[in-house]
Amino acid sequence: MRRNELLVLITCGIMTGLMLEPAMAGKKGKGGGKPVPTPVLTMAEANDLLFMREEEKLARDVYITLYAEWSARVFNNISQSEQQHMDAILSLLDKYGLDDPVVGSGEFTNTELQELYDNLVADGLQSKLDALMVGALIEEVDMEDIVEAMERTDKSDILAVYGNLLAGSENHLNAFVRNIEAITGETYVAQWISQEEVDAILGR
Ligand code: MN
Ligand code: MN
Repeated sequence: MRRNELLVLITCGIMTGLMLEPAMAGKKGKGGGKPVPTPVLTMAEANDLLFMREEEKLARDVYITLYAEWSARVFNNISQSEQQHMDAILSLLDKYGLDDPVVGSGEFTNTELQELYDNLVADGLQSKLDALMVGALIEEVDMEDIVEAMERTDKSDILAVYGNLLAGSENHLNAFVRNIEAITGETYVAQWISQEEVDAILGR
């Protein structure tokens, strides 16, 4: 999933604003000396944080919607975990002075994520199995995007949050696969990342 150009433009504007007026850099050092400089994000780091905030929201909103339809507990449990992931990203947005892109439930600033959300919900409303497959697909996509974002930053605070998100997605994929295989009686087949990666995550 590629960042759309609009998001890049918006972020360029944000970054320009950061350079001119670093919102977080106003803290005075001890004794009222020089302000403590706040590390400025690269455009890629800022883009990734903004995207990740909404990608975690996509997972949360899809799972809330599919739980309402199918009452499968796995969706309720995991949507709460996605809320925690959203909160963790929001803390980083606040820390680095980025505006939160989150809008209403089921709505997305990123048009690609909006389209993806609409399609995933439509698929997931077909049957309980389809819903669980949508869940597993979301987790596979999330893991790929998180790993790619980790390769574009060397900031320890950001890497720590991404690491937590990645571990969460691995747990979530395991949970969805258990539920899928309980219905199908067949071995889960990877949908986005490689079968080898999925097998490793599932401990197979
Ligand atoms: Mn997550
Ligand atoms: Mn997840």
